[in-house]
Amino acid sequence: MSPETTAAQAAHRPPKGPACRSLSDLDPGVRARLCHHSEHPVPTRLRDLGFVPDTTLMVLRQAPLGDPLEVEIRGYRVCLRRADIAALCVVPVAQ
Ligand SMILES: [Zn+2]
Repeated sequence: MSPETTAAQAAHRPPKGPACRSLSDLDPGVRARLCHHSEHPVPTRLRDLGFVPDTTLMVLRQAPLGDPLEVEIRGYRVCLRRADIAALCVVPVAQ
């Protein structure tokens, strides 16, 4: 399977793969793309903030105790509690 085929399939109907991880587990500074697995619907409040599938985002930093997390999405920054974003599935993307 060529890389092009893999990317096209991922964009069309992304399977939950080995690269998937919880947004709350994403390391700061790593850019990632939101998945849309049916078992993890994005809460309405987060959708309203721009957390929709295929959106690229990045965890900027964590508070000293690891909560909340500052996330950059769509050019602005939001602070979110770890528990609120633990259900969001993301895949790191190339820098
Ligand atoms: Zn995923």
